[in-house]
Parts: sequence; C-alpha cells; structure tokens
Amino acid sequence: MLAQIKGLHHVTSLASDARDNNAFFTNVLGLRRVKKTVNFDAPDVYHLYYGDEAGTPGTIMTYFPFQNAARGRPGAGEVGRTVFSVPTGTSRAWLDRLATFEVAGLAQDVRFGQKRVLFNGPDGDVFALVEHDDDRAPWTGNGVSADMAVRGFHSADMRLRDGAKTAELLQFMGYEKDDTEGSVTRYIVPGGNAANTIDLDVNPTASAARPGAGSVHHIAFAVANRARQLEVREALLDTGYQVTPVIDRDYFHAIYFRTPGGVLFEVATNEPGFDRDEDTAHLGQALKLPGQHEHLRARLESYLQPLED
Ligand code: ZN
Repeated sequence: MLAQIKGLHHVTSLASDARDNNAFFTNVLGLRRVKKTVNFDAPDVYHLYYGDEAGTPGTIMTYFPFQNAARGRPGAGEVGRTVFSVPTGTSRAWLDRLATFEVAGLAQDVRFGQKRVLFNGPDGDVFALVEHDDDRAPWTGNGVSADMAVRGFHSADMRLRDGAKTAELLQFMGYEKDDTEGSVTRYIVPGGNAANTIDLDVNPTASAARPGAGSVHHIAFAVANRARQLEVREALLDTGYQVTPVIDRDYFHAIYFRTPGGVLFEVATNEPGFDRDEDTAHLGQALKLPGQHEHLRARLESYLQPLED
C-alpha cells in the first residue's frame, strides 16, 4: 500500500463558455482565479484554475472551456459530485446566496451526518458544499466573507457500476474504508490534506456517462514532489496500470492513468506551484503560456474571450 498520496490535488472539468465559467467560480462561489493559461494540448482553449489565495493543492477546481461544447450526460464511469468544504452552520447563508444568483439544482441533504447544499454549475456540473470543521484559510477577495467562504475541496464522489476494483485501487493508493450509507462507501486517506475523502457511489444499472460540458474530465491526487510521484508511478506500473510518462504542466508535474471504473486519474506534485511565473498578489490576472506555446501569444490574445478579473 502506498503512503505518498495525500488527498485531492485538483479536479478538472469541461465547460461551454469561459466567461460564464469565470463569473460563476469567482463571483458566485468566491474562489480566486489563480491561473489563466491554455490547455497545453489544445492551446486555442483556456485552462482556468480557481482555488484559495495561492492555489493550494486540495483547493483547485480547473476548467477547459470549449466554447459552445455540448453538455455531457451524467452516468457511470465518471466523477459525479465535487464537494467543497464550508464552515459549520453556513448552509442557510449559502442557500440564500446561491438563490440570489439563480443557481440551478439547489437542494439540501445529509450524508454521513454532514449537512450539504447541493447545486449545479453553469453547465449542469454537479457540486455540493458540505458543512465541515476545517482550519484552512479562505480566500475572501471576491466578496464572500471569511465566516462562510469555501475552504477548498472536501471530497469527490465517483459513480460506478461496479465499485470493487476501484475500491481496491483506492486502498492500494493509501485510502482506508471509512463508512457506508446506502449505495455510497466513503474512503479517507490517513495523514492526508484536508481534501482527503473519496466516496464511491455504486449503481449496477446506471447507463454510461457521456462526457461533455459540465463533466469532470479527470481527478488529480496530490503527492509532495517528483520523487514521491516516481515511486507511485513505479508501483502502479508494477500493479499493471498503464501510466503515462511524467508530463510537465509548469505548475506541477503530472502522470495519468485510467481506472477500472472508467475514471481518469492523475497524480500531481505539490510543487512548484502557481507562483512559479507570477507573484501571489497577481495570480490569475495575465495570460500565462507555457514555453512551447509562447510563439502563439499574439494570436491567442486576440482569439480567446477576454475575462473579467
Ligand atoms: Zn489535471
């Protein structure tokens, strides 16, 4: 069993409109845009990162906004709900806030004894805020007060037809089975960051998900550094997973592999971080391009939709 993985690093999803996406995560949820760059593999598309002040691993929601992309169809084989942590007692205030912005899908529930506010993103993305004691410092620069602001990820759930092999994989990655409620089994990585929880939601008759706007593209797990990442890569290869070589994503190094349930996993390093190419006070403001795409700057700056700061 591995001990290098410390919880979530980031979650990356697809969107249909960069401006709507940016407005939702900054103005409505109050996250900070910590990086404005492009999809390194398709530089005509933004890659937008939202998180806490520094873009700390475990807080980072990222998007590829493919303009006018068709919506995905939820189903098995994908990350279903991405869950952010908010302070205990703030559900009412969040319901009111989200209603003011006419956010879709508003509802409340309780899972494993924790109160949640359920809501949808601009493309039908499935989210929740969970009341949870969390000592992470919030970003308050977008007008959500510190007493209710999002602290980062709490968890993500995966919708699967058969959870057995994914459960085995999570346990190999260092997660421990915590509890079961209905179709959902919770796994927690001991000694992890605050985003240390994964829920497996098993429904044997679910139809397969069809990816599109509002779908999670992949989910990334955090390791401290490149040495720990290589240990994880070797262990996964030894276990029979097809793992990519290490890829330099400028703000972290990444490896990817497809899980038995169909979800694309990434393992990403906590270093070097988002202040690698701009200072923390100005994160996310300028368009940042990786070296291999810098020659496209003039074209991309005229082509990509301008975003509000
Ligand atoms: Zn990623």
